[in-house]
Amino acid sequence: MASKKKDYYELLGVKRGATDDEIRKAYRKLARKNHPDLNPGDKDAEERFKSVQEAYDVLNDAKKRQVYDTHGFYADNMGPGGPGGPGGSGFQPPPGFDFRGFDFDDLFAEQQRQQGAGGRPPGGSAPGGEQDSGTFKDFFSSFFGGRQQESRAERGSDLEYALNIDFWQSIKGTQVRLTINRHEICDTCAGSGSGSGSSVCPNCTGSGKVTQMAGAMRFNVPCTRCQGKGRLTNACARCHGEGRTVRPEQVEVRIPAGAADGSRLRVAGKGNAGQGGSPAGDLYITIRVEKHALFAREGDNIDVKVPVTVWEAVLGAKIEVPTIDGRAILKVPQGTQSGQKFRLREKGIFNSRKNTRGDQIVEVEIQSPPANDERTRELFRELAKLHAEDDPRRDLWTKV
Ligand SMILES: [Zn+2]
Ligand SMILES: [Zn+2]
Repeated sequence: MASKKKDYYELLGVKRGATDDEIRKAYRKLARKNHPDLNPGDKDAEERFKSVQEAYDVLNDAKKRQVYDTHGFYADNMGPGGPGGPGGSGFQPPPGFDFRGFDFDDLFAEQQRQQGAGGRPPGGSAPGGEQDSGTFKDFFSSFFGGRQQESRAERGSDLEYALNIDFWQSIKGTQVRLTINRHEICDTCAGSGSGSGSSVCPNCTGSGKVTQMAGAMRFNVPCTRCQGKGRLTNACARCHGEGRTVRPEQVEVRIPAGAADGSRLRVAGKGNAGQGGSPAGDLYITIRVEKHALFAREGDNIDVKVPVTVWEAVLGAKIEVPTIDGRAILKVPQGTQSGQKFRLREKGIFNSRKNTRGDQIVEVEIQSPPANDERTRELFRELAKLHAEDDPRRDLWTKV
């Protein structure tokens, strides 16, 4: 990795005026040939693979290619505005990696902290050189689909479903049969994905590249599933090499009593099947509870608005109010005002975690009576005369 100015055209074995298509074909052939997965332990092949990736990364991008053609080299800090130089290290960037604003010393320092003492000092010799650096190899293995990716592919992904239930189902609990579409191990190939067909690679959907994250950075790496070809040969005709098929499945779900709007249930093992016989993910169900015309849930409590007559409010009364258990008696005390709230203990929602019940909160609304008859109006006129001195708005003026 001595030369800074590599001839990318030469690396790919194409002419300077090669078309995009010719470049792509040459790249694919060479990437396949030198792919680390196909040449385990072969450092030269790995170097060639990186160089080919680097060349392709530049020549495949019209803007970068133009910069390269103009200056004879390309570095990511060279905008179309002018060259910034390729830097002195001779370090070969991983393909598709966006270097802008990224300090490699930070990365190595970070890795050293993780490894503890005894690592290679950061900012020493150029990484990726002849050094037998475990740190750097680990770093690269994640780019080229090493352990990290394999362990991530082990377990199937989780599934998310939203489930609408009505108020009473949420209060009393219910059993629901859901039809979910989940990945199952393919019957035809028993999950191996192999067969006699050829199909678009499901891992990269044919692009030959997959996006990886490193902290907040995203970068593309060649798809290890298809070695960057975008297609799979010897693929199972049924699952197109995926090893899994999507199939609707009925899942019986028990919604516990008191399930609140927005709560989530986990059904273990009912997510997507894993690859290569590894365990399935989980199914998560988010509960949506429809609003009830009368009962409004507030935590473990139930709020209800109940109308009362003027004489019930004035004289006091025992009235029947609806609760989620049926009818209950509420004692309205003498002299009750509109908007006053009363508590019916333990008429709310059962909380299984605390093993308690919430309350029902009754807000009374005083309703004026229909006064269509002369007798009623007469009685109210009499009341008005009796209370001529009472002004309910008196206090308002002191507050203005
Ligand atoms: Zn199959
Ligand atoms: Zn692929």
